[in-house]
Amino acid sequence: MKSNPSLTINHKTEVPHPPFGPKNLISWYKKNARNLPWRHTSDPYKIWISEVMLQQTTVTAVIPYYEKWIKVFPTIEDVSEASLQKVLKTWQGLGYYTRVKNIHASAKLICEKYDGKIPSDSQILQKLPGFGPYTTGAVLSIAFHQRQSIIDANIRRLVMRLLAIKGFADTHQDNLILKFLDKIIPTHDVNLFNQALMELGALICRPKNPLCLICPVQKFCKSFKQKIQNKIPQSKKSLVRLINVVIAIIINDGKYFIQKRPPKGLFADLWEFPGGKIERGEKPESALKRELQEELNVHLTKCSYLMNVDQLYTQFRARLHVFACYVSPKPNPDKTHQWVSFNGFSKYPMPSGSVKIIKNLLKKQSLK
Ligand code: SF4
Repeated sequence: MKSNPSLTINHKTEVPHPPFGPKNLISWYKKNARNLPWRHTSDPYKIWISEVMLQQTTVTAVIPYYEKWIKVFPTIEDVSEASLQKVLKTWQGLGYYTRVKNIHASAKLICEKYDGKIPSDSQILQKLPGFGPYTTGAVLSIAFHQRQSIIDANIRRLVMRLLAIKGFADTHQDNLILKFLDKIIPTHDVNLFNQALMELGALICRPKNPLCLICPVQKFCKSFKQKIQNKIPQSKKSLVRLINVVIAIIINDGKYFIQKRPPKGLFADLWEFPGGKIERGEKPESALKRELQEELNVHLTKCSYLMNVDQLYTQFRARLHVFACYVSPKPNPDKTHQWVSFNGFSKYPMPSGSVKIIKNLLKKQSLK
């Protein structure tokens, strides 16, 4: 791994060495930190956005989303002035849409009440939408260099192994982990220390096959001593349940019918094709008929199978059975129902499954 010379690091700062060795850890980080776009900024707004994005997916996946976001919304004022639809559309593909709604709501509050500056007081920060313990701690420690311990998935796994804490990697372990972190967190270079812990978890103390032989904290690691590092944390082999869903593609005059989901619940405020869950024992065609009647009060006159699309979400897997549908009467547009051309889809934020369907429809069209 290459070192990252552009990181802003105070080389003169002395940090307490025992009991864990933050000094070793920080010097390891200085040499091995990945060169990531949000590590070149001290702007609390950009650090906040990157930390929210990183909670839900890998660093590699986040980079293009982060770069696009900062291009569309270079400042917190740009977010606060944007419509919810634009904010959701820019986030599309990252999932967890409540998080981006919270970013939007917090940006508005920060601009209204705090002159567009993210508060550096944890009491105030924690009252803003979406600022839970992790986001608050990450912003305060990385952007404002405050002595705040944080726990993300990488740190949780790393500390569980260091202390040989058995069990699943979930929030039940966090009290113990936090106590440990509060003891070892240095008084200086807190920003580097917290990022070093996360980076060490991501690059060395990886979920599978940790690289113990090159680990800078190996001599402190109880799991390594006991040779149980591959057993910690215990793996959750729970099967993600599969949900079968029918999707109706209704076309009229080259336009596609889409509808907006309610403002609360799964995929709130996103747009999608009509359809719904196939009930137990129900055939896809019968489910289509039922759903179209229930949702749009229209009668399905004819349908033909188009494709299946599989999509993995956090709590379930969805198999989308997609049909071209002819209905009577033609549904009318209103605030939450629209006829949209292919080019028009770019204005509407949609769940990943719908985006996949559009891509496949586009492929099918280009093959004709
Ligand atoms: Fe993780 Fe191995 Fe390092 Fe322990 S020695 S912290 S298990 S990489």
